[in-house]
Amino acid sequence: MAIQWFPGHMNKARNEIKEIMPQMDVIIEVLDARIPYSSENPMVATLREGKPVIKILNKADLADPKMTQTWKDYFEQENGVKAIAFGNDKAAEVHRINELCKKLVPHKVGADKQIKAMIMGIPNVGKSTLINVLAGRIVAKTGNEPAVTKAQQRIKLDDGIMLYDTPGMLWPKVENENSGYRLGATGAIRDTAIEYEEVASYTAEYLLHAYPELLKARYKLDELPESDWEFVEMAGKKRGCIRGGNQIDTYKMSEILINELRDGIIGRITMETPTMREEEEIMVAGL
Ligand code: GDP
Repeated sequence: MAIQWFPGHMNKARNEIKEIMPQMDVIIEVLDARIPYSSENPMVATLREGKPVIKILNKADLADPKMTQTWKDYFEQENGVKAIAFGNDKAAEVHRINELCKKLVPHKVGADKQIKAMIMGIPNVGKSTLINVLAGRIVAKTGNEPAVTKAQQRIKLDDGIMLYDTPGMLWPKVENENSGYRLGATGAIRDTAIEYEEVASYTAEYLLHAYPELLKARYKLDELPESDWEFVEMAGKKRGCIRGGNQIDTYKMSEILINELRDGIIGRITMETPTMREEEEIMVAGL
């Protein structure tokens, strides 16, 4: 599944970030804990200029806790990178971001000093929600279609930290087809751009291998089939997705599977592992 992103918007965002990056002390990169690889923006690594990065594994309430820990350990192998997981109950925990900023940029701590932190994230990872919790008030619009021409925002936090919200819209891993499926499955890509049956079969294939017990339990199946499409048909039959008299409505079942995955109803699921990331990076580089 190819993802469309507009080159004009990508260039604009890149230029704006390039311009303010030199002033920044630390980068706060918001990721979706279910897809920590595909929800990265490739620019963060290239424009980082060796600055410390705090990776937020957001929506961790929907992700597999064991995998979230695996990703955290994996990310922290890199120098200057720290990772924290957040779920729906962020309010009590966000002070950890301030603490980490101060730890990572100790020379900017103290009276008359200010840490400049840039917050970055592709649409729908929960960046606006996090900004509002950090600010303790509504400063960013949440849950809406992302605005493309958004002005640079500065938000003063306690503890001498100035948060810079990145202008423009960051794109996800557009060059990797597998990422396209996983971004579609988790809802990072809008519904009009996804092909439900294709995304459902990709999702079923992954879940059959990574979370078979959750599939069995949710769709009340004693045994699982080998192939993704057989699973969609089997679950569709079980769910009564029938059309034209006795045909299984695979489109309807595909929608059910994706919506239940997005809502966390199947269980806490992570769609990517660090191994997949490394293998796919090699594959994409070779294209
Ligand atoms: P943005 O496009 O990155 O600014 O994303 P938003 O802040 O608008 O959030 C996108 C959607 O994700 C909204 O429906 C939020 O309520 C939801 N959301 C944000 N953070 C979390 C989280 O930690 N857990 C869950 N389950 N949903 C979240």
